[in-house]
Amino acid sequence: MAHEPHTHGATPDRDPRDVLRDHGLRYSRPRAAIVSYFSEMDRHVSAEDLHVALNERGEHLSLSTVYLNLAVLRDAGVVREFHGRGEQKLYDSNVSPHFHLICSESGEVIDVPAPTVDGVPLGTFLKRTIEAATGWELEEPRVHLRGRKPTD
Ligand SMILES: [Zn+2]
Repeated sequence: MAHEPHTHGATPDRDPRDVLRDHGLRYSRPRAAIVSYFSEMDRHVSAEDLHVALNERGEHLSLSTVYLNLAVLRDAGVVREFHGRGEQKLYDSNVSPHFHLICSESGEVIDVPAPTVDGVPLGTFLKRTIEAATGWELEEPRVHLRGRKPTD
């Protein structure tokens, strides 16, 4: 299994304006602040934690503004939304195919590359196989991997 490099939608050397424009989004200060945060902090974050972090950085946005703009960035494919432990929504700027290992005790999330089957990522393989078998048009399947992180 080849380990894919961790490629992010936003990288530290890219101007948030360019990232937004590439995704057909108008530049706004809240969007730029969120894109900058993700380009500097390589992590999965909830809207609530992002709100606190942005305020600590001097970006005084309301929580509803953070929610709203995360939804816009998600719909444009800049960030990906997924469920962490429980039903908490988390956001990830790594939109390349990968799975999340979620610890059911601590809620810690780590990235693992999507295994490939017949040379395509597992999700794509499942989608194609089920579509061929049923004639349905499927969305990209989401695989949730929960478990317990080893303690040492
Ligand atoms: Zn991730």
